[in-house]
Amino acid sequence: RTIRVELGERSYPIHIGSGLLKNIGAYCQEAGFALRSPLLVVSDSTVAPLYLPQVEEALRSQGYQVVTHIFPAGEASKSLAVYEDVMTTAIQGGLDRHSAILALGGGVVGDLAGYVAATYMRGIGFMQIPTTILAHDSSVGGKVAVNHPLAKNMIGAFYQPAMVVYDLDTLLTLPPRQVSSGLAEAIKHGLITDEVFAYWCREHAEELLALDLEALGYALELGCSIKAKVVGNDERENGLRAVLNLGHTIGHAIEAVGGYGVFLHGEAIAIGMAGSALLAAKLGRDRAIYEETVSMLTALSLPIRLPEQYSEDDLMEAMKHDKKFKEGKMTFIIPEAIGSVSIVNDIDEQLVREVLAQLKKEDN
Ligand code: NAD
Ligand code: ZN
Repeated sequence: RTIRVELGERSYPIHIGSGLLKNIGAYCQEAGFALRSPLLVVSDSTVAPLYLPQVEEALRSQGYQVVTHIFPAGEASKSLAVYEDVMTTAIQGGLDRHSAILALGGGVVGDLAGYVAATYMRGIGFMQIPTTILAHDSSVGGKVAVNHPLAKNMIGAFYQPAMVVYDLDTLLTLPPRQVSSGLAEAIKHGLITDEVFAYWCREHAEELLALDLEALGYALELGCSIKAKVVGNDERENGLRAVLNLGHTIGHAIEAVGGYGVFLHGEAIAIGMAGSALLAAKLGRDRAIYEETVSMLTALSLPIRLPEQYSEDDLMEAMKHDKKFKEGKMTFIIPEAIGSVSIVNDIDEQLVREVLAQLKKEDN
C-alpha cells in the first residue's frame, strides 16, 4: 500500500506493508539516492540490534556504501550533543551532497536524524524507516528537531523526507505500552477528522493491541493519510495544521512536569484528549463527546486520569512555555463532535485549571 503526501515538488510516497526492509536498497534507488555517495543509517541502541543488520545487508547488496550511527535509546538522546555526534560520523564517513540519511527507529531517531539531514551541508537526502506505531505521526509531515534543555523540539526545521518506508513486521517487537502510546496518535487522527475511523479503532482495539498486522496496517494507512492530508493543506502550520495538536497542550505539560518517560507521549496526550473533551463540555459542547472519547481511549488501554501529584500550578506554568498562550487566554483544539474539531483562541486560563482538577477525579 502506498500513500502520497502532496506537497508540490516536495511530494513523497509512504510505503506501508510487511517485509519491506529487505527491499530497502531498491527503495533508496527509487528515492533517487546516488550509489556512489555513502548512506548514513541512524538508529538507537534498542532498534539497531533488531533491524540494522537486515537494512545494512539490503543496502550493500544493492551496491550502496553504508555508514552507521547508533545512539542510546530514549528521549534524552534528542539533544544537540548527540546531533553533533551524528554530524561527526557523517563527516568522518565522507557523506557528500548526494548522500542521504536513513532514520531507522521511532520518533526520536526520526526527529534527530531528520534534523541532521536538514542541516548537513544545508540539506541532503532523507528517508524515514519508522519502527514504532507512534512514528506514523512523526515520520509524516516534515517536522524535525532536537530538544533544548529548557524546551522540547526547540531547535528544528521543516524538512520533508524523500520517502517513508513503513515495515509493519518491525512493530511485532514493540512493548505493550509503546503500542498503546502509538495508537493514541492514531485515534487522535480519527477524532480530529474521521468519525468512522475513530469508532473503527475502538471496535478493533483488541486486534490492534494484539499487533494483528492486518488491523495495524489499516490503522496506520488511515492515520498516515489523515496526517498527510492535513499537512498537504498547511505544510508550515500557519493555520489548519494546528488541529493535529488535539490533546497536546495538556499532554506536553504533563510530559514536562512529570519528566519525559514517566508518561509516554501517547499516554500524556490521551489524558490531554480527555481534558480537551472535558473542556469542550464546559464550553457547552455535547458531553457525549467526552464519554465517547474516554471509552475509545480506555479501549486502547490508555490513561485518562491525571495523577494527584501533578499540581495545577506546575501544569499551567508548563503550558505558558508552550507556544500557544497569550495574555491569560489560551488556544485549544476543541472537539465539536467525534471526528471534528475547531481551533478556539480565547479560552480562559481559569477554565483550564478547572479541567485539570477535574481530570484527577474518578467520576466527572
Ligand atoms: P522512541 O523513538 O523513543 O521509541 C520508543 C521506544 O521504543 C524507544 O526505547 C525505542 O528504542 C523503542 N523501539 C522503537 N522501535 C522498536 C521496535 N520496533 N521494537 C522494540 N522497541 C522499539 O519514541 P516514539 O514514541 O517513537 O516517538 C516519540 C518522539 O517522537 C518524541 O521525541 C516526539 O517529540 C516525537 N514526535 C515527533 C513528531 C513530529 O511531527 N516530528 C510527532 C510526534 C512525536
Ligand atoms: Zn504527538
